[in-house]
Parts: sequence; C-alpha cells; structure tokens
Amino acid sequence: MSIKDKPEHRQTQSGNTTPLRLNSMLENLPVYQPGRPIEEVARELNLPPDDLIKMASNENPLGPSPMALEALGHALSKLHLYPDGNSYYLKQRLARHLDVDPSCIVLGNGSNEVLELVGHALIAPGSEVVVSQYCFAVYPIVTHLFGGKLVMVPARGLAHDLHAMRVAVTTRTNVMFVANPNNPTGTLASHGEVMELIESMPADVLLVIDEAYIEYLEDPLDLLPLVRAGRQNLLLTRTFSKIHGLAGLRVGYGIGHPTLIAALEKVREPFNINSAAQAAATAALDDSAHMKRTRENNKAGLEFLEQSFRKHNIEYVPSSANFILVRVGNGQRVFVEMQKLGVIVRPMGGYQLPEYVRISVGTPAENQRCVDALCKVLGIATG
Ligand SMILES: *Cc1c(COP(=O)(O)O)cnc(C)c1O
Repeated sequence: MSIKDKPEHRQTQSGNTTPLRLNSMLENLPVYQPGRPIEEVARELNLPPDDLIKMASNENPLGPSPMALEALGHALSKLHLYPDGNSYYLKQRLARHLDVDPSCIVLGNGSNEVLELVGHALIAPGSEVVVSQYCFAVYPIVTHLFGGKLVMVPARGLAHDLHAMRVAVTTRTNVMFVANPNNPTGTLASHGEVMELIESMPADVLLVIDEAYIEYLEDPLDLLPLVRAGRQNLLLTRTFSKIHGLAGLRVGYGIGHPTLIAALEKVREPFNINSAAQAAATAALDDSAHMKRTRENNKAGLEFLEQSFRKHNIEYVPSSANFILVRVGNGQRVFVEMQKLGVIVRPMGGYQLPEYVRISVGTPAENQRCVDALCKVLGIATG
C-alpha cells in the first residue's frame, strides 16, 4: 500500500494556511521591528550607503572600542575552534569590573538573549508578566513566546508608574520587566521609587531591571550591593551594544543570585557567545577612555539636540539615555521623508507612539544633519 492510500495520510495544502501544527503562541506573537540597516535603505532608495547616517538603534556613534578591535584581530586566527562555552575570561573580567562572584553572571547573545533566558526559566502558560506601557518591545515578545499573560500597566505621562506596576502584581505574577532608563522614552525612575519597588517585591516574583543605558547616567542607582547581599529575586541586565559600541557582536549579561543564574545557565545554548565576541568584550571593559569619550559625546549631543528642538519649537521628552523621543506629528511620514534625505531614525508606531520618532545621539556632524533634515521635513525654516 502506498503511503497516499493510508487512512491517516492528510492531503497537502497550498496557499497561506499551513497544515503544520504551529505553536499557538505564534498566532499573536509580535515581530520585533529593528532600526533599518544603512545597506537596506541604500538599496531601496538607490543611494550610496556612505551618504546615509543611521540614528535609529542607539548604537555608539564613535564606533567600537579600539581596544576591542585589537583583541578581535588576535581572536580571528582561532576561529576554527569552538568558543569557550563558559566564556571564562570574559566572566572573570566582568566579575572584577562589577565586584561580584563569577557565579552571579550569565552571558547572552545580546542582553536580548538574557531576557529570553528569563522566559525559558520563569514564564509558562498562565504566568503573568508585568510591564509598563511604552516598555521595550522585547518584553511583550518574550512573554507571548512562552505563553505568558502580559499585564501592561498604564504609564504616568510617558514614564513608568512603578507604584502602579507593583499594585498589578498578583499571586500569578512570575516576572516584572523594568528598563531604567527606559527605551524608547528615555525616562528615568527616581532612586527612591526603584528601591521602594525592589523592597516591596514578593520573594517569588523576579524583578528584571534592564540597565542597558546605565553607563550614560551621571548619578546611577547602584543595585549591585543588593546582588552581593544575596537578593534572590532581582536580575540586572546590561549590554556591550551601547556604550562599548559592540552591537554587531551581540554580547549582553545578567547579574543576579547564583541560584537564579544557575537556572538561566541551564536553558542557554552551549556556545551562545562566539569567540570573537568574548575577546572583544573582555578588552572593551579595559577601555575606559572610549567609554569616557562616548559619555562626553552623548552629553554634548543630547544638549545640542534638545537646544535645537527648543529653538524650533519641536516637542521632545528629556532623555537620560543616548537617544531622544521627539514629537513630530505623523512619525511614519517624518521617518520616510528623513530617510530620503539620508537620515535613518526610528518610527514609533509599534510602540503606540505614532506622533513620535526616536533619534539616537550621533556625532556632532550627524546631529546637525539630523536637525536640518527634521526641520526641512517639518517645513521649519532654519537660518
Ligand atoms: C538596546 C537595548 C538592549 C540591548 O540589547 P542587546 O541585545 O544587548 O543588543 C536591552 N534593553 C533595552 C531596553 C535596550 O534598549
């Protein structure tokens, strides 16, 4: 008997519906919309890539740390070998940098992966996950991916309402995600509010504080003492993508109690940090000069952008990070028109902020070009 004659054989189908029994989680899973790459926009608009600038993904406009690049060069001749699955040297270096035990650190393929590890370890169908309105897009994605129930708490203005988020915690809550400063709003919660949230959190709810932009703060709230003191339900996440300028290599990390970290280590893939990334990230931690230059460029750039927006009566949200949210009317139109002028910014429709675009701080020349392009698109005369 041919397989086609067997009763259990089902006919193949054509068209958009698939006969595959895809995970039901995928039905309403939002797809992450990244900032548009220069090459892609160049192909689409038939422009030379060198004429385009990208101010859309909060990358470091000064480039990678030169010390990281040098270390990367040395790593290349070893690419035939598998990476160290435990990233020994990077973990040791980070542990020294943070003054915590290496058992308090988990590494991810970007901190995005650390967030996903949290999903693997803690989110299951029925789990509630508390986030804020206008939160980082990855939190809802991770929640839905594991079948969790997203509890989105209304923002206060554009900022997180940490008190309301705490009130939203129930006996079914497993995780709360808080980015501080937040992306895409650039807003910062006060030290007092954050401490109050941490202190009031039930022991069986993991609070993830996403510190992707902490290195840009002048007076950051240092939560590492809580980790050193053995707090079990707190995970801090950080990244090499922003201040260290290594977004293309994908390295991030989580800092927390060894028991939590051991759980996250169980669900991570064996070789999630490639050897080039391990070498570059380890060296980047030594490059305090590059971090300092980046911080200074960012501070001056934010001041320039804010001053320009004020001068031209463009509304913006004061930022604590390396980007700024600007109210432009029709954000999608402004994004498309600025792109034609060679400046890639980020439309915010996916964040329920259709009147805004988000602009990453660039070099002084990029910032000037961006303001000129924005004014042109908005029909504002510049002198
Ligand atoms: C950029 C960013 C990250 C970092 O992502 P990586 O995966 O480390 O590149 C994490 N959280 C927030 C809020 C961010 O804006």
